[in-house]
Amino acid sequence: MAFGFAQAFRTFGKLALAGTIGASLAAGDVGAQQKKPSPGSAKALFGGTSLPTQGPAQPIGFYAKGCMTGAVALPTDGPTWQAMRLSRNRRWGNPAMIALLERFSQDAVTYAGWPGILVGDIAQPRGGPMLNGHSSHQIGLDADIWFTPMPGRRLTAEERESLPFTTMLQKNKFLTVDPKVWTQSRARLLMLAASYPQVERIFVNPAIKKKMCDTWTGDRTNLGKLRPIYGHDSHFHIRMKCPSGAAGCTPQAPVAAGDGCDKSLAYWFTPAPWAPPKPPKPGAKPPKPPREMMVSDLPKACGAVLDSASVASVQAATYGGSSAASALTAAPAADPAADAEGMLPDVGPFPNDKPVMQ
Ligand SMILES: [Zn+2]
Repeated sequence: MAFGFAQAFRTFGKLALAGTIGASLAAGDVGAQQKKPSPGSAKALFGGTSLPTQGPAQPIGFYAKGCMTGAVALPTDGPTWQAMRLSRNRRWGNPAMIALLERFSQDAVTYAGWPGILVGDIAQPRGGPMLNGHSSHQIGLDADIWFTPMPGRRLTAEERESLPFTTMLQKNKFLTVDPKVWTQSRARLLMLAASYPQVERIFVNPAIKKKMCDTWTGDRTNLGKLRPIYGHDSHFHIRMKCPSGAAGCTPQAPVAAGDGCDKSLAYWFTPAPWAPPKPPKPGAKPPKPPREMMVSDLPKACGAVLDSASVASVQAATYGGSSAASALTAAPAADPAADAEGMLPDVGPFPNDKPVMQ
């Protein structure tokens, strides 16, 4: 490695505190310990929607500050996917996102040796800030995929609520992928997801990014799309670019050139991202808690999105049929099979003033 992982491990690997924080960020469903949104807040209003708007699909605003119109639902079941945690009603997305997920699930079977995907949160029916968990997933272009393979049978609705997340990290070790859990098929799955031109970023735990940096010997062109961030050890998060022609969608800066196996990754193996916030100076005013996001903080059009007429039913807005294949125009950029030889919860709670998903 060109940069100092070994050194970072020597210096910080034994920090019990860092290990504990890393593990607690990793575990379980997100948001359980978040406080209830106030009535009238953007979270409460968008989280209270049950159906999408009618009309054309538009992402409005930014991944972490926006909403959407014309969402469609990923069917709960397909030949190569199953949607999880159905009670959350978060299997809504831009049609391009849903088409990509269906395509990706098929390609995963064909190219990654993966039996099918379990799909976690996508977005609420009209997007917007979520009742709990996730700072992004607001415009229908983000989706979480479990690192757990789809079982060979249909899970019941109850099982989809209760199936536990499986972390890819080793317990009681600082940011280390568990070799007993991690498989090359998971590496192929990530690189397959990164191979689609319309996918701009994939968020994974820093330990997983490091594992990929250390072990992926195939084409590394798309490795830079894998972005290290807190959590994301039992699922990964696919983020699509703004679709072409989506005028209201605020694009994110493209990822930096290169594979990202550099200083930006080494940083995660230092104490800085895991250190608790500094206590205020004696006598200083305690910092104000962050203000709750209101609808007026979102792009103006999002107010109208809340007031727009609904589609008739979930069925009426469930994606599929003959339109599914034609909605997705782009294929994976490279033949993922060539790479094969070459080799949830969203962001958990974390200390203030820490790196955000970028
Ligand atoms: Zn996510």
